[in-house]
Amino acid sequence: MAERLKQLAEGLWQTEVPAATIPPYTHTHCYWIQGTAGLVLIDTADGGPAGTAVLRQAWNELGQEPLAGVYMTHGHPDHVGGARWAFETWGCDLWLHPLDYDLLPESLRVLPAWRSIAPEGDRSPLAPGIDILDAPGHTPGQVNIYLKEHGILLAGDNLLGNSTSVIIPPHGHLRTYLATLERLGALNLRLAAPAHGDLIEDPRGYIAMYREHRAERLDQVLQALRAAPLSAAELASRIYPAPLQQIGKLMVESHLEYLVEDQKIETVANGRFARAGA
Ligand SMILES: [Zn+2]
Repeated sequence: MAERLKQLAEGLWQTEVPAATIPPYTHTHCYWIQGTAGLVLIDTADGGPAGTAVLRQAWNELGQEPLAGVYMTHGHPDHVGGARWAFETWGCDLWLHPLDYDLLPESLRVLPAWRSIAPEGDRSPLAPGIDILDAPGHTPGQVNIYLKEHGILLAGDNLLGNSTSVIIPPHGHLRTYLATLERLGALNLRLAAPAHGDLIEDPRGYIAMYREHRAERLDQVLQALRAAPLSAAELASRIYPAPLQQIGKLMVESHLEYLVEDQKIETVANGRFARAGA
């Protein structure tokens, strides 16, 4: 049987769980932290049989220690999908930021085990030495887990290995996300462990690159609108390669929202946007 645990630090392991998730990724990384009253699991992947089998194997390898609880980084289905399975397997509490309850499907929302992650600084400590950071933007209630002593950030979907993150309205909000990146960039990080993709060995450089990339994209949208009013789809066709049109259009929408908030652009007829006052 394949090794299901990759140890990242003392009391911290990563498990690569097959899941239906953002292409081109095929896995959600879940994490195990040694807590004071048992293990704490971070995220549950999508709840499919392949994924739950892998989580069970990992738990077996960890010696089937009791589960103190599960923290969800956010409410997207490739993270909370295994919530029912986790509850039925371990009978443990499921922690989620209240701003992400709306993202849960009804079938999961009815579980009696949900507990609200408290505002930052007032946390229920399931494990010593972990800080749960409010890190919104990808979703309103995204949290990241900061293991200060190790300089490790469990970054959820805020940072992705091998690619930039996905910020899509209405749940994603670019301005909020950029503020989160600024905050994460100020942490003393030596390693970022994302929910998808490879580990990030130079988190500060990576975050700086992310921020630059978004600034460039905002500029690109603004420049494209200099010539003529364009819709999100038309902008995407100018900015993104053909296979990325669908996600590109959604990404463009978050940049348009940002520029409208700054009153740099405005909506005109037929779903198009133009430079403000042009
Ligand atoms: Zn997500």
